[in-house]
Amino acid sequence: MRSYNHDSYEQRSGYMAQVHLPGSVFQSLVWWALQSLPDEILVGIDINPNMPHQPEVDDYFSGEEVHGNLFQGQGYVISEAHIVNRGDSYSVHHLPEDWTDDMFSTERGSRAGRFTHWLHTHPNAPAIPSGPDADAAQETSGIDMILGLRFSPEGPLPWFDDVEGTRRSMKATTKEAPRKRSFFARHRLPVLGKAPSGHSIHELQLIGFHKSGHGINIVFVDEDGWPYGWDSNMKCLKSNQA
Ligand SMILES: [Zn+2]
Repeated sequence: MRSYNHDSYEQRSGYMAQVHLPGSVFQSLVWWALQSLPDEILVGIDINPNMPHQPEVDDYFSGEEVHGNLFQGQGYVISEAHIVNRGDSYSVHHLPEDWTDDMFSTERGSRAGRFTHWLHTHPNAPAIPSGPDADAAQETSGIDMILGLRFSPEGPLPWFDDVEGTRRSMKATTKEAPRKRSFFARHRLPVLGKAPSGHSIHELQLIGFHKSGHGINIVFVDEDGWPYGWDSNMKCLKSNQA
């Protein structure tokens, strides 16, 4: 998350808006994504109307061109997520909205109704919106996010890489082991971590986009809204090599 935030800062001029996503929510998303394999999941996301972005953080990650009123929930930290559907890349987006309202009305209290943001997963495929993704986004009042996961064992879903678009990866920071000349070494991928499901996670990609087609910059924050890697001088995400 630190290295992702660092990239979010470096690339801020390419975005007109930002969204702050708590690490704890992200952790759940990754876990649900792996538990649901080989399906994709669709997740509805709420914001906390009592928790605006930390203004210093918002300023820090703002590019030169900022649109302050691009989508619903803009400027508020994401608070919670609910899985609302699972299926293949075609069926996952299709669900009747009233069904969703009913299903979550007790859990979500006064916020029952449309979710602000949506996220869906791309198991073993890059986090780049497809045509159907762009269509589905037209109904979204907030933003859409895509979580791409590269993992092994791959099962029936080998990594599909034949897609063009901007990629935003969470990189492995582990040092490369000294390479021995070996046939198998070429197939070895960096391992970010081991999922409770037993899968090795090689790469996580995450992007946000607005239905207009604009990219939305994502910043990972802690429970108090401060970014991972934010130092005590309230600035400067060091290009950490932790
Ligand atoms: Zn998709």
